[in-house]
Amino acid sequence: VQEWQLFARPVGRPVPGDFRLVERELPPPADGEVSVRNTYLSVDPYMRALMGTTESGDLAYGLGRPMTGGAVGEVVESRAAGLSPGDLVLSDLGWRTGAVAPAARFTALRRVEGVPDSAFLGVLGMPGLSAYAGLTEIAKLREGETVFVSGAAGAVGSLAGQIARLRGAKTVIGSAGSEEKVAYLTGELGFTAAFNYKTGEVRKLLAEAAPAGIDVYFDNVGGDHLEAAIDALTVDGRAALCGAISGYHATEPPPGPRNMIELVKKRLTLRGFEVGDHAGLQPRFADEMGGWLAEGKLTFRETVEDGIGSAVTAFLGLMDGRNTGKMVVRI
Ligand code: NDP
Repeated sequence: VQEWQLFARPVGRPVPGDFRLVERELPPPADGEVSVRNTYLSVDPYMRALMGTTESGDLAYGLGRPMTGGAVGEVVESRAAGLSPGDLVLSDLGWRTGAVAPAARFTALRRVEGVPDSAFLGVLGMPGLSAYAGLTEIAKLREGETVFVSGAAGAVGSLAGQIARLRGAKTVIGSAGSEEKVAYLTGELGFTAAFNYKTGEVRKLLAEAAPAGIDVYFDNVGGDHLEAAIDALTVDGRAALCGAISGYHATEPPPGPRNMIELVKKRLTLRGFEVGDHAGLQPRFADEMGGWLAEGKLTFRETVEDGIGSAVTAFLGLMDGRNTGKMVVRI
């Protein structure tokens, strides 16, 4: 198999030389193990954090060790009950063309008609559940509300905006980094309004798009976006803090919002969340999301890069906004 290893810890924006593609022989599966050929790999913003050193050190990718990440694959050989050759599985053994591991590392998937297998890394997977959990459990979106989603043309954001619409939001506003993405939001995805945050000050652009303010903010970006949203939130407003990608390459802690007193004045609730804590929502999410997809009420896009060799380029492209919807690597 071929697998990507972290070779040097990036400082600021990673460069291709921080990674190495290594060839490795895998042993045949032992008792209780399966061998899997990966078909799709996920690249996700959280991986940037694993490339650095964490305070405890134990979460980071090890140097010269295979990197991990979401992957969809097919069982090639099985010496474990419950998994057979040809079965579709999800694992965290990404960034490589295949793996041999205990069966417990894999979750069997049931193919969904009309939906590509890669969807288990996006709309039907971790990003979909993040959008769902953030809006319903964390922000507690109610019918008739005005919602603002940043990073709205990405994997999580594009779903958060659509779920808001389907859950009865009156107005859904999105921000993204290009005119094409803005057109995608107000066109195909049915956002009420959208703006390109690169064309001006986020605070002003948001005030123009939401003159009466917002009730809920779904934050993928942090920084200026979060500060602008705190200004725009109305009394008792809520924000689900999903991510803060504007600061992921920062070499110093990014400055916090300068308008925190607004939380007091407007009794705002800002609440962060980790999708991993919301696995209990999975059945309800799969039902509701599957239903919306089947009924054509919700759409999604993927940006697909080809070949294991493109994984680093795909990751860097994701961080630079070269994706619309979920960025995946097809093996
Ligand atoms: P996306 O598909 O949204 O891809 C990342 C996008 O971020 C890019 O396409 C780019 O779009 C945008 N971006 C990059 N730099 C900036 C910047 N400086 N300012 C504004 N936008 C920027 O990724 P995901 O949907 O997978 O993730 C979105 C967010 O959700 C991330 O912050 C991620 O960490 C977080 N997340 C959190 C989870 C949790 O459990 N809390 C789970 C999953 C994701 P553009 O062209 O618009 O700039």
